[in-house]
Amino acid sequence: MDKQFFNSNKLPFCPGCGHHLISQNTEKALSKLQMDPKDVILVTDIGCHGIIDKFANFHTVHGLHGRSVALAAGISLGLKNKKKKVIVFIGDGGATIGMQHILEASRLDLDLTVIIHNNMLYGMTGGQASGFTPKGFITTTTPQESRTRNYNICDLALSAKASFVARVIAKPDFSDIIVSGIKNDGFSLIEVLELCPSYALKMNKNMKLSKILEDLQEEEFVKTNPNYKWDFYTNSTENLLEDIKIFEKKYNNNVNKTLCIQISGSAGEGVQTAGEAFSYAAILSGLSVNQRGSYPVTVGVGFSTSEIIFSPENESTYSVNTPDIIIITSTDGFSVNIEKLKNFKGILYLDLSLQTPQTEAKIIRYDFRKFGPKNSAIFALFYVLKDLQFFNIESLTEALEKLNLKNKVSFEKFKEDLNF
Ligand code: SF4
Repeated sequence: MDKQFFNSNKLPFCPGCGHHLISQNTEKALSKLQMDPKDVILVTDIGCHGIIDKFANFHTVHGLHGRSVALAAGISLGLKNKKKKVIVFIGDGGATIGMQHILEASRLDLDLTVIIHNNMLYGMTGGQASGFTPKGFITTTTPQESRTRNYNICDLALSAKASFVARVIAKPDFSDIIVSGIKNDGFSLIEVLELCPSYALKMNKNMKLSKILEDLQEEEFVKTNPNYKWDFYTNSTENLLEDIKIFEKKYNNNVNKTLCIQISGSAGEGVQTAGEAFSYAAILSGLSVNQRGSYPVTVGVGFSTSEIIFSPENESTYSVNTPDIIIITSTDGFSVNIEKLKNFKGILYLDLSLQTPQTEAKIIRYDFRKFGPKNSAIFALFYVLKDLQFFNIESLTEALEKLNLKNKVSFEKFKEDLNF
């Protein structure tokens, strides 16, 4: 069976949106290249295209607006592994904001493929003009037609010495261009012109992409520049993965299916660190783990959530829609989960200080904050592990040691309280 790179054909874009075609062609290109999903890293930017993340069966990183190319550059340089392919999805808005990153990646000819979803306006935020909006185009911020010219990103990338540059109008099959871009082991930029039916088509009746190109005296093309090849990538970087700690299996586990634990508390109370310790403990117990965190962009205030998917399978499932277990240790963690808890049917571990939510879950209460806020998340995980016995509690102790955290938490008090 062919490998599936996206886990649904029903992608989350408006009907007729050109983003569908780009995702479908990316899927086709990855299939043609017979890529292993584990070797694909997709970095997305802010914009409608970015909501593709949760449909991906491969690694994804979601960046700040305009910063996806900078993130991807770091990943590509850190990997130093030609088998791994780093792809960036970015909109014309993100490309406007982050143009310097695109030019730098072109100048260094870094090994990554940037696919610009150019619908010539900011779709997600309401149809405003971007730096790619052509003269004469109507947007919500240029209702009388744009009076300024657009950047020609392909010319800019070529002049900055990108080794592969292409412009294409979104069509049912342009996957070969993406294949060539990915195969190029330098910087590839593919500008895909496409339509946003929700804004562009409503404001620019009968708009045709081919006519826009004609008016701009531009055309579709694919250009490779072997002379621009530069071995900066090959010769100047370290493989950051060489420093990755390898944990050998040391403990047994009692897990016979993929499970997901979500822990939610307050930022600054060690939620992400606790999730990391639990993940390491699961790995020491022979499980595959996928951990992801979410928290507001502000530092040290608001909620913090760590979600750990662990599995006896060799590869952990990349996305699970509903956790099996939710742990909540503070009011911040409680507030952010109120809606989710209404239909939650798993086990809910709740700090004693919190009110009883509307939920279908089985509720177990304990004083997780008894050793102070900074101990609450990790203490809760010890409690849950002792209760559900997924694996030996010693593994969590060892994980704390490996992470140099054992002396930073009230470990002896945990032991005494939970009697382990
Ligand atoms: S608003 Fe426009 S760009 Fe966004 S998904 Fe809808 S059609 Fe596509």
